[in-house]
Amino acid sequence: MSAEPVTAIDLHADGSVQCWCCGTIDTPARMVHLGNHPEVHLCLGCAHFVHQQAWEIEDDGNRRPAALFRDRFRNLRAFVIRRGWHHNRFIGNRLRSLDKYLP
Ligand SMILES: [Zn+2]
Repeated sequence: MSAEPVTAIDLHADGSVQCWCCGTIDTPARMVHLGNHPEVHLCLGCAHFVHQQAWEIEDDGNRRPAALFRDRFRNLRAFVIRRGWHHNRFIGNRLRSLDKYLP
């Protein structure tokens, strides 16, 4: 997917664009663009979030081992977030970076 289609309306004076989900500002090359709506920009963090949401929807009701495995990780992630451990000054950084590699 190309990062080319950026409309002049979306483009800030410094060449950056804003994430439509969280408002993060970055260069168009560092954003994900939707196929039929290239004017929509998603930052990488929101794109990963959308990806995880897609897995969750696909896994809903699926009893295969891989789906159950991902479901366990989602429950573990929710537990960590409820406890606020991802903001802990000693382990928060490691937990957040580990999350990038988990389903
Ligand atoms: Zn975002």
